[in-house]
Amino acid sequence: MTKEHETETKETLMTETATEIRACRKCNLWKQRRNAVPGEGSLDALVMLIGEAPGYYEDVKGQPFVGAAGKLLDKLLLDIGLCRKEVFIGNVLKCRPPENRDPLSNEIKTCTPYLDQQIKIIKPKIIVTLGRHSTSYIFSKVGLKTEGITKLRGKVHQIKLFGFQTSLIPMYHPAAALYNVGYKDELERDFQLLKSELQKLTQR
Ligand code: URA
Repeated sequence: MTKEHETETKETLMTETATEIRACRKCNLWKQRRNAVPGEGSLDALVMLIGEAPGYYEDVKGQPFVGAAGKLLDKLLLDIGLCRKEVFIGNVLKCRPPENRDPLSNEIKTCTPYLDQQIKIIKPKIIVTLGRHSTSYIFSKVGLKTEGITKLRGKVHQIKLFGFQTSLIPMYHPAAALYNVGYKDELERDFQLLKSELQKLTQR
């Protein structure tokens, strides 16, 4: 397949997935949503970042990470020379849970086939899980025991997901870092780790 044809196929598949997500009524979250948030970014991204679920502003705009946590995420990306358009940003849940409560296990089970589809389309070389929900989802997917995010962060975990090899870098959620300076420092350090992993890939 030529590069052009591959890009066209990815675009078609991702558009189909996003259309399905916007029409989804598989759990109760559709009842209160203003907009579903399929995710956005480059389909050729080397890096895919996975958050938890849309919050208030994401629900209003239909885009991921556009509130306060998103501003911090943009800055962290910029600090390592990346912009949003170069990565893909998605979430475990595509609709906002009421009052931003934690995702329920049945919601995760029902919604994650969409995330799986997106991962299979993009096949990122690096997956960054932001927070405990996306981290434990990916860990369980590859049959690894999930420990607390504090133990898992700060390292690169080599995993095989859907038949391809990828580097998983779990990090604290940017929203947590807004309230805890210690987490923010760790997050900045973890973005430096992401930068050096990316450099390894691009210098090959
Ligand atoms: N928090 C998330 O986990 N995802 C978003 O899209 C916004 C805030």
